[in-house]
Amino acid sequence: MGLLDTVSEVLANSTQRAPGDGGDDGSAGSYWCDDCTVRVRDVDVDDEGLDRDPDGAPLCPNCAAPMRFEHAGGSGCAC
Ligand SMILES: [Zn+2]
Repeated sequence: MGLLDTVSEVLANSTQRAPGDGGDDGSAGSYWCDDCTVRVRDVDVDDEGLDRDPDGAPLCPNCAAPMRFEHAGGSGCAC
């Protein structure tokens, strides 16, 4: 276990809030298609009617590739 693991744990814990806390809509992040730079928020996947792969990842509406989930950052800093 190194420093990066500790930082990741702290970040993960800080984003685990009760639903409704902060007045947001429950979104934990967004799904991305890296090839198409398409982004769909997790709470919008069902509204968009996207299919999902066996792992539960939504499929890109543009190229039908499984999309990558990215947590919404608290500070927005990914470094
Ligand atoms: Zn795509």
